[in-house]
Amino acid sequence: MGRIRVLSDNVANKIAAGEVVERPASVVKELLENSLDAGSKSIRVEIESGGRRLIRVADDGCGMLADDALLAFERHATSKLHDIKDLFCIATLGFRGEALPSIASVSRLLLETRSLDESTGTRVEIAGGKILSCDEIARGAGTTISIRDLFFNVPVRKKFLRSEQTELAHIASLVTHYSLAHPDKTFELYSGGSTLLYATPVESLRERVFQVFGAPLLEDLLELGERRLSLPDEDPAEPAREYTVRGFVSRPQVQKNNRNSIFIFVNGRLIRDRLILHSISAAYHNLMPPACFPFALLFLECDPGEVDVNVHPSKTEVRFRHQTVVHDFVRDSIREQLMVSRPAPSFSAAVSPSPIPVAQVGGALPYSEFSQMMRDHEARGADPGAPLGEMPPVFEPGPQPPVSEFVMQPSLAPVGRFDFGDVGIPVNQGPVSPRPEPAAVAPLKLRVPDTHGAFPAGVGSAAGMSQSMERIGELRPLGQLHNSFIIAAGVDGLWIIDQHVAHERILFEQVLAQQASGRVEVQQLLMPVILQLTQGQQIEYARIEDELRASGFDTEPFGNRTIAIKAAPSAIGMGDLERVVLEILEIAENELRTVSVSDLRRGIAASIACRAAIKINTPLDQRKMEWMLRTLAATEYPMACPHGRPVALQYGTREILKAFHRI
Ligand code: ADP
Ligand code: MG
Repeated sequence: MGRIRVLSDNVANKIAAGEVVERPASVVKELLENSLDAGSKSIRVEIESGGRRLIRVADDGCGMLADDALLAFERHATSKLHDIKDLFCIATLGFRGEALPSIASVSRLLLETRSLDESTGTRVEIAGGKILSCDEIARGAGTTISIRDLFFNVPVRKKFLRSEQTELAHIASLVTHYSLAHPDKTFELYSGGSTLLYATPVESLRERVFQVFGAPLLEDLLELGERRLSLPDEDPAEPAREYTVRGFVSRPQVQKNNRNSIFIFVNGRLIRDRLILHSISAAYHNLMPPACFPFALLFLECDPGEVDVNVHPSKTEVRFRHQTVVHDFVRDSIREQLMVSRPAPSFSAAVSPSPIPVAQVGGALPYSEFSQMMRDHEARGADPGAPLGEMPPVFEPGPQPPVSEFVMQPSLAPVGRFDFGDVGIPVNQGPVSPRPEPAAVAPLKLRVPDTHGAFPAGVGSAAGMSQSMERIGELRPLGQLHNSFIIAAGVDGLWIIDQHVAHERILFEQVLAQQASGRVEVQQLLMPVILQLTQGQQIEYARIEDELRASGFDTEPFGNRTIAIKAAPSAIGMGDLERVVLEILEIAENELRTVSVSDLRRGIAASIACRAAIKINTPLDQRKMEWMLRTLAATEYPMACPHGRPVALQYGTREILKAFHRI
């Protein structure tokens, strides 16, 4: 007898559930999509215990016929696909007929439904894939599906669930974003008695964004009016392929440190797509530091034949037929909108979409221009120490090599007058356009001490002069460059220290130490600062309230989606308070919401340090510079700021000697 057996439907459903039902939010997604496919005008979602105890989705859609109510739980039973041709032009959100049987196999499910075409309804009860009852009931048209005890019969999956708040955050984000895709419908979300979302029908996407996120976010957003692209078919007899995109994107100064705020809908389906994520990042190229992300809410519509949605059982991935076309269309649409709302004029060179003539960026920036740029940079609310994403437009910042070597361009022979436009150009990625090299002067090499670990002794120039940052306390400050960088001399050469980043490192370690000892220096505020939160932020807040307290923030809920900050770490200026708290909430909301307590603490410390640190463009007297170098030397990790940017650059003595032809 052979060894191969056909799996029973129940086992097959459980296997499918592994892919379809990852967590409570996946159940909500499937049920919501079914309700939308059923033409519902109003959808109500109720959650208990982050979806572990209960998920209930009630709609006023077309309902199911009594005969279909049981059939819906058969594997591959669907009313949305008739034959294989349909698979290539899917207009509904569902089509695989897998969701209900999968969900029913790993939970206790109750279906109550009545079709518009029948006078009585049906009630079906299923537990772990087994039908317990099927009865006729009286109820209004529409469908209510209640899922209790998710994964009760799959303990392994249950263990993978994260905290209730985390699961709830995923659900809330999902429902919120589906509500954005359908401003004309009512969406309600309740969790344990509290209302998380109540959005009544509105006329426009803009109004829905306002309903859901409130005015402050809306101010930071640019509306992407509908843009069209018509792509002629290879066969002239065929009609052209139409693409449209619309939505909202944030102004470049809104910088998120994860992709959590990017939502992409393709033909009404919420997806995660690397191609489109990439095209969004490409649109912000040079307008935002690398590793920062915007807020984006994009709706891309195209002919169903242009996109394959049958890529993964959870239907969150798609494959485009014309990938490059889609990529460039999305990128250019966003980019154009960003250009229209061009940032301050002094940035015009940086934000121009066309290549910049070399002359504009090649020469050293006059001082006044430089300081204006720094001021604008800060005024626009960017991290005061962040790399100036706007500054050098002609090269790719690219990933930093572990030990970076930067070439100082020859034109800067006298050290004090080096070319700002060039700082940050990795050797092997130099400026895109060649520039004439004055023959007489050899380039100087500028080193960034290793930011990825202790610097091995003796590494550095061939003469064996150590670049260890240990000796940084012995350096003699010579002065400042542009009131922003401390220039210092040491036995091993010349050093340039970024004063903001250095101070940031010092404060970061101080705050961490205070957190660890439970002795954060706190200022009581005369008047509490009231902060309005989005519903997502409110959920994060509930999750990390205790941790905020441990870091010196005394806060309490203050009405709906509002908190009052009554005390804060004394290092933070009043003007920065709001932003620091919002930043912390954003850290908590990291990609998978898996941020550990220690990471969260570090994030909080980094955020405080960054805001409290002395800014660039601040004159420092000799005493302060000495203090800075000494204190920096005493830190545990003086090489880089908490975000990984280097603190100091060094010209080795040997390089200087070589450049002057003395060796
Ligand atoms: P799919 O959505 O891929 O067709 P599902 O397993 O999600 O598969 O649902 C099976 C069928 O049950 C659907 O095709 C639809 O006919 C019916 N159905 C599910 N949910 C609803 C609902 N809320 N209202 C009306 N019909 C529904
Ligand atoms: Mg479905």
